[in-house]
Parts: sequence; C-alpha cells; structure tokens
Amino acid sequence: VLTDGLPLLDQHCHGVLAEDADRAGFERLLTEAAEVPAGRSTFDSLLGLAVRRWCAPVLDLPPHAAADDYLRRRTELGWREVTRRLLSATGTVGWLVDTGHTPFPMTGPDRLAGLGGGTGYEVVRLEAVAERVAAGGVGAAELPVAVMDAVRARAERAVGLKSVVAYRSGLALPAEPPASSAVVDAAGTWLRTGGPLVDPVLLGWLAHEGARLGAELGLPVQLHTGFGDPDLHLHRADPLLLTDFLAATAGLGVTVVLLHCWPYHRNAGYLAHIFGHVRVDVGLAVPYTGARAGAVLAELFELAPFDAVCYSSDGFGLPELHHLGALLWRRGLGRLLDQWISADELTAGDAERLAVAVTSGNAAAVYPLAGR
Ligand SMILES: [Zn+2]
Repeated sequence: VLTDGLPLLDQHCHGVLAEDADRAGFERLLTEAAEVPAGRSTFDSLLGLAVRRWCAPVLDLPPHAAADDYLRRRTELGWREVTRRLLSATGTVGWLVDTGHTPFPMTGPDRLAGLGGGTGYEVVRLEAVAERVAAGGVGAAELPVAVMDAVRARAERAVGLKSVVAYRSGLALPAEPPASSAVVDAAGTWLRTGGPLVDPVLLGWLAHEGARLGAELGLPVQLHTGFGDPDLHLHRADPLLLTDFLAATAGLGVTVVLLHCWPYHRNAGYLAHIFGHVRVDVGLAVPYTGARAGAVLAELFELAPFDAVCYSSDGFGLPELHHLGALLWRRGLGRLLDQWISADELTAGDAERLAVAVTSGNAAAVYPLAGR
C-alpha cells in the first residue's frame, strides 16, 4: 500500500502504563468507560478484535490469537518489551505527548520515545497548569498573571498547548475573553471551593489567553473535541460550538487543532474548511473504530482541506492503542487512496503528496519541532 513506508508524526498521544497490567487493568484501558460491567469483555469490540488481529503477531502469536493467549504472552514479555515492539513497529518519528493527565505511573515523552524510537515532545495542558498554580497558594487578583507566567515557563520546552475545556464547561466558548473583574471574581470563588477547574468564566478566559500566548510563541493550541472518557457530556464537545471562538481567533496568527472529533468529525472537517487556522485529526477514533476506521477517514475528507488533516494515535495507557492508531491509519488511508486512484479520481502522484501531507507534513508545518 502507498502509505506503508511513510514516517508518522503522532501529533497527539499520551504515555503508556509503566508497569505490567493484569487482565482487569488491561480491559479497563481498552474502553473509554469508567468500569467494565461484570460479564463483559472489552475484547468483544472492533478495538478488541483489532488487538487480537494486528497486535498478536507483533508478540509472536498468530493473528486472531485468543484474548487469554494474548494476555499470557504480554505478561511473559513484560510491559517494556511489549511497549518497545508495539511502538517501534509504528514507524513514528515524533511523539507529541500530552503530559497533563497521568492517573497512574506513565512514561513521559522521552521515555516513550526511548522505547518507540524517534523523538518525544511535550504538549502542555492549560487546565493542569492553572490547577497547580491555584493549589500552590495565590490570591484571586494575582491568579491570572501567575497562571499565564506558569504556562509561559512550561511552554519554553513545549511544542504546543492543549485545553480540555470540552470536559469541563463544554466547547461553547465566548466570542470575547471575559472582563478581568469577572475573571478575578471567578478566581476568588474557585480558590475558596478548590477542586478541578470547572468555572466557565475562568475556562473561557484561559482558552482565549492560551490562544493569544500560542500566537505569540508560535505554539498551536489543541482542543479536545468529540468522544472520550465519561467525564464528558458528549453533546457539549461538538466542535461546532467553537464557531464563535474560532472566528475570534482567526486573525491572531494561532493554529487551533481539533483533536479526536468523532462522531463530529464531519463538523470538524467543515470548520477546517471555513477557518484557515484550524487543523483536525481523528486520533482515538481510528483505533476504536477498528475495521471501520477507513470509513471515518473518508467522512473527514469529505470537506476537510488536505492541508488541514493531521495524523495522531491518541494512544493512552496501552501501547496497543498507539500501534493500532498507526496501523489502521495507514491501512484506512492507503485503501481510500487506492480506491480513488482506481476510480481515476486522482493520480498516483496526487495520492502520494496527500499521504505525506496528512501523515507528517501538515503537522510538521505547524509545530515548532526544531530545537525542542
Ligand atoms: Zn488524548
């Protein structure tokens, strides 16, 4: 297939669990649900089938090996060797790692790249920085400056900023940044009550400030959109809710990257079509939809400009997800392009140019990878 040898730039992923997983732990990381209901196996899904079909041979098992055999072999090899094999087989040259969510011992960007080859880069999560600053003790009036100073310090070594506002107050961000008096009032309430940052005024302020800082430093701002774990109210994660925010940031000189997007990937493709500073990926959706990943990709391409689509795996916890993100992307994209070539919709040369762009070129053009 056309896409077989192309190096990948994984523009959004996380680390992997840095210890061996038992069966329950493995199955819990093979779903976005908080718990696996009694009597259900998460292997019984397109993602589970893809693990048995495509990851088993990397661990020296026959394709479609039974889940028990797969997990036994995984334990025999140990998490380091399993991770090394599954990651290095992806052909990834750069891993852009979101370091803002580590609910268990996980590999950071350098350790991930050490196991998988290529280079690890950091993407800084805005809400995580704000929460650390708030926990460190600061007054309400000082909080806005203290947070942005902390983001700026972290951004020196990073290649991007990320917001998970979709998980908190949703993507209906205001067109204008909130007034500073409203921000200080909201900061006062948050500092009194504590806990995760969920206040819509502060989150709207942080997204606008993040976009402004991103423009200044040449760092893209990634936004989680679409499906994810059950902290999310999915209807509030439709990227179309960002329309006012995207219109407001269009002239800033910042690139806004819509991550995941499923089942709103067509909406995201439309936004990339309308706004020149928007990039999109379908990471997470590609491994989860398994045999249907090509169909998701085809729908994204219906309207998304070819220079706006980027590859990512959104691998989290299990290196199987990074592996399948890469493999199913190559397969899905390769088959799509082959179909279009045989239908004489484009030339082999056009297809190759498109494949290189969406696999690494488009992301390389927006993230400041050199010197990081
Ligand atoms: Zn992610």
